[in-house]
Amino acid sequence: MSFEKLGVMKPLLSAIKELDYEYPTTIQIRAIPLVLAKQDVFATAQTGTGKTAAFGLPMLQRLRNTSADENRLLRGIILSPTRELALQIHEDLTHFAKNMKLNIAVLVGGKDIEYQQRILKEGVDIVIATPGRLIEHYEKGLDLSNVEIFVLDEADRMLDMGFVKEIRKTHPLLPKRHQTLLFSATYSDKVRKLSKLILNKPQFVESSKKNSTVDTINQIAYMVDTDRKAALCAYLIGSRNFRQVLVFTKTKKSADELVQELKKDGLKCGVIHGDKTQANRTKTLSQFKEGDFKVLVATDIASRGLDIEHLPYVINYELPGIPEDYVHRVGRTGRAGRKGEAISLLDIYDKYDIKDIERLIGQKILKEVVEGFEPDPNIRRKDVEDVKIKSEHKKEGKKPTKKHYKKTTNKHRRVTKRG
Ligand code: AMP
Repeated sequence: MSFEKLGVMKPLLSAIKELDYEYPTTIQIRAIPLVLAKQDVFATAQTGTGKTAAFGLPMLQRLRNTSADENRLLRGIILSPTRELALQIHEDLTHFAKNMKLNIAVLVGGKDIEYQQRILKEGVDIVIATPGRLIEHYEKGLDLSNVEIFVLDEADRMLDMGFVKEIRKTHPLLPKRHQTLLFSATYSDKVRKLSKLILNKPQFVESSKKNSTVDTINQIAYMVDTDRKAALCAYLIGSRNFRQVLVFTKTKKSADELVQELKKDGLKCGVIHGDKTQANRTKTLSQFKEGDFKVLVATDIASRGLDIEHLPYVINYELPGIPEDYVHRVGRTGRAGRKGEAISLLDIYDKYDIKDIERLIGQKILKEVVEGFEPDPNIRRKDVEDVKIKSEHKKEGKKPTKKHYKKTTNKHRRVTKRG
């Protein structure tokens, strides 16, 4: 299969050739012809499958422009859950559209709204926006009545982040006849419910097995005691000479603490989480991409959609609170057919969470011990039992009591605010 056979037009073909896109990926083969045929699409695709080009290329083709600058109308909207993903999509689409006369703007929170309004006044064809900021612009007069294509990228994540109100508010503002493309990494009930509301006779497209991790990723877990996790993390990065590694923590606090520990081991690190300003996150990500430092520590919220090409390693320093986030995390590596390795550091408290993850991805993760970092077999069983109580509480939707937290000795476990 080739992009040409899928019906992709010449200006786009020459642009993606420069990006070394030789053959289309599965999601691209399945989605591009449907989007070009103006169908509504419900696609389940994770980051790393080539989903941005799957909606981006046919969208650009459909909206190719012939009008003069002053007559530009906003005809395409892409909603993204995070600013980072919005910027990434903008970067990708700008590359794809380099031989076309299209103005593409990015409207994200945390940036000067008046500056964005000036850009809009100059005339744009496509915007990539976070849901709240799009509504703000609408309220300030942005005309949505000419929109032909509406894309929701990582719709599951948008719903997890509580953007359902904004999406429900945006949908009726669009003209009756428009094409909607919904991309989601998972096929959750929430997403299905939303799809019924906003999609019209959708075509279903799947890039890979439901909730499966990408096949080219080698997944391994190392058992270790909680208080030796940072040392093991530093040891793995140093001894295996990892060139570029993304390390995930569950909370902002543990991200900051880990960075301090890794620095003590002489590793140069950057950190991205919800407390960092947008400018700071963008700068850190580009420094990481340029190789200024080799370790990037991130929380789940900040990491979603980060596109780092050829990323060979991901370390789960702490498992995510939501099993689906494991799939998103390891999706940072092994992208578009390249090999990657996802390493999870498991302490005694992760025992139950890893089982939830294995159930979700439908496979067992190999568990090993690194010499010199063997877990202490005398760790009190009481702790394990505490964790079990906590896990059961979680399943029943109850919050563990203060008394329970007092029992546990793991300081990271007490911090539950996600970053
Ligand atoms: P995405 O899933 O859109 O985040 O894309 C993942 C990565 O794969 C990005 O670095 C893309 O530039 C790259 N990519 C997308 N499609 C292709 C393709 N057909 N061939 C090679 N690389 C691709």
